[in-house]
Amino acid sequence: MKGLLLLTALCVAVFAKKTFEGNQVLRITAKDETQISLLKELSEQKHLELDFWREPIHESLPVDVHVPFHSLQDVRAFLGNNQIQYDVMIMDVQDLLDDEERDMVKYHSSPKSTDDFVYTAYHNLSEIYSFINMLVAENRKLVSKIVIGRSNKKRPLNVLKFSTGANRPGIWIDTGIHSREWDTQASGTWFAKKIVKDYKRDPVLTDILNNYDIFLEIVTNPDGFAYTHKKNRMWRKTRKPHHFFFWCVGVDPNRNWDAGFGGAGSSGKPCSETYHGPRANSESEVKAIVDFVKSHGKLKAFVSIHSYSQMLLYPYGYTRTPAKDNDELNKLAKKAVSALQSLYNTQYRFGSIINTIYQASGGTIDWTYNQGIKYSYTFELRDTGTYGFLLPANQIVPTAEETWRALMTIMEHTRKNPY
Ligand SMILES: [Zn+2]
Repeated sequence: MKGLLLLTALCVAVFAKKTFEGNQVLRITAKDETQISLLKELSEQKHLELDFWREPIHESLPVDVHVPFHSLQDVRAFLGNNQIQYDVMIMDVQDLLDDEERDMVKYHSSPKSTDDFVYTAYHNLSEIYSFINMLVAENRKLVSKIVIGRSNKKRPLNVLKFSTGANRPGIWIDTGIHSREWDTQASGTWFAKKIVKDYKRDPVLTDILNNYDIFLEIVTNPDGFAYTHKKNRMWRKTRKPHHFFFWCVGVDPNRNWDAGFGGAGSSGKPCSETYHGPRANSESEVKAIVDFVKSHGKLKAFVSIHSYSQMLLYPYGYTRTPAKDNDELNKLAKKAVSALQSLYNTQYRFGSIINTIYQASGGTIDWTYNQGIKYSYTFELRDTGTYGFLLPANQIVPTAEETWRALMTIMEHTRKNPY
């Protein structure tokens, strides 16, 4: 009997979806370097199981931390004893997840066409993959699907190619390389539909597509994304277990690129959320894009989309040396951000990664920039922390619409400034 109970408990632990009842997200405002160091010490306390949504880097930036219910008392005491100021940003993480789940169930359907697809709700991997197939079937002259590789769990890495002629230079957009950033995959789905709707209607997009191909990878980390739906909504990394510390799963795919690989702002600890992996390109999801970029050879813009924080960033992240095109990248970012803001007055910060957020090594766009893709940008979409990674579904479309304005600004500039 005891054995059976134990077995049942083990099965529940292995197969059940993780819940977050009573967990809170705290917004911490450190006032000086000492408090930042204290917060770094706090983050090292493994038994607290803290999940930093925004890490302690510098006193000018807020720190957001997701605290399990069992650690709340300890964390509050630690902050209180050290006179570190904080607010409760999310009172109960599970409440938000329940809302999210309710919306998903409500809109869970099998649309007959991409017109029927519900863009105002979040969707799982198979729903997005069937959306991709439908979009291709409906627009054979404009859209095709290419499989650039397989994930660690052998899922196809699908990329939509929008093309109106052979041998064109290309523009790349990816969403969802960090799996829990659900508003990015949702925005990517909306972008795909927007492109087919606007071609031959919007003169600027039509001109871009008459001269450039657009490549869009909506689910860049499918293993992680499937895991966020089935097991743990907060999963960020890939899903490859470490070869030795097998209980540490996954690599941060935005620290795995061959640009300052293994440097500051990435971690060598296999269980860390920013683990850079055993070597550059160790993750098949990253390697597939690397191979694609190299074999294509003519990508002129590369945009990798994350959330959250409302920022538009350009290289570099791993070094303080400014990119040689820094001035142009800065001017274009400013223009893109003001186009974005013009729709719903959403305010973005912009600048190089290292000056705007923090030093981060092995990042996507540092590598693409070093490959000669001048217009390399990263977005951090909505919001600035009210919901963080749990952006309510009613913000999906407004987020996608405003981001599209910025993307159009970058693509139009790329079109008008060939190199
Ligand atoms: Zn991210």
